[in-house]
Amino acid sequence: MRRRKLTIEQYINEIKSGNRFALSQAITLAESRLFEDQSIAKEIIGKLLATTGNSIRIGITGVPGVGKSTFIDQFGILLIKSGFKVAVLSVDPSSQQSKGSILGDKTRMNQLSLHPEAYIRPTATGSHLGGVAQQTREAILLCEAAGYNVIIVETVGVGQSETIVRHMTDFFLLLMLGGAGDELQGMKRGIMEMADALAINKADGNNRDEALKAKRNYEQALHLFPPTKGRLNPKVFTCSALENQGLSEIWTFIRRFIDHGKETKYFRLHRQQQQQYWLNELINRQLTQDFFQQEAIRKMLPQIQQDVMDSKLTPREGAERLLKAYRN
Ligand code: GDP
Repeated sequence: MRRRKLTIEQYINEIKSGNRFALSQAITLAESRLFEDQSIAKEIIGKLLATTGNSIRIGITGVPGVGKSTFIDQFGILLIKSGFKVAVLSVDPSSQQSKGSILGDKTRMNQLSLHPEAYIRPTATGSHLGGVAQQTREAILLCEAAGYNVIIVETVGVGQSETIVRHMTDFFLLLMLGGAGDELQGMKRGIMEMADALAINKADGNNRDEALKAKRNYEQALHLFPPTKGRLNPKVFTCSALENQGLSEIWTFIRRFIDHGKETKYFRLHRQQQQQYWLNELINRQLTQDFFQQEAIRKMLPQIQQDVMDSKLTPREGAERLLKAYRN
């Protein structure tokens, strides 16, 4: 389904005035595989760049069922009541295969999806994770230009997607459950290390004690990580998204974290590092793509792969031969 497109100027004016339809269309252009659409999106984003960046970008992750959508639904309403406009985006690795996304589904956030001050964008599908990351970063910029001043990017707690979300947000919140067997819930140390706060959700009814116990355990685990200069130390919370308990404490901490980071310049440095990270990522991705598409490489690769597998050639030698051919 392709609608008639607006002119670039119209897109820019409509997005700036907060027109959600124009915003959605621009994000769709940025997600498109068509070169023509992408170049329009690039131009729109380029011209809107000066109006971007003025939001608090919050990443939220956790295993399926931990309560992400319930949390974001309540949390989003809390922020709106404090005067913010909230956009919710998602990075969903599972949607690449299934197309049936489990994130970014409006029906998962009943209150927020109906609210005029909220914008929920279903997950981009049909692309590899690098592509989804790029699209989500562009969607963040477009939402900021449209006046959303808190951007929530959610992701399922599996695989690489947390790293990607971590690299596009100012604050990373890890939702967890208390009393779920293994204290660290198979959680890779690296993910905990990335978090600016942990929230043990479902701290209600019979779960309350387990949640408090888990909180203490995680507090101890976090102590083992070295502090980061200029950044407030991560904190552990308990909350109940369902009963709307403990969410305002998390929001207060996020505000304090951001304010503190702005004072110490950590906030700015962190965003600059992220820009640099994405620059490198894009260069790497493009170079890799170019490399494997080159005629000479395509011809040589199967034999070299075979020789390396048969130990007739070391991986290092194989790579050197290929790179030499690529450069010539
Ligand atoms: P998601 O898969 O991480 O998005 O999790 P959902 O938000 O869909 O929640 C999964 C289930 O847990 C739903 O049945 C929710 O009603 C329930 N749930 C979410 N938050 C809480 C909570 O704070 N307390 C309790 N008891 N249940 C919750």
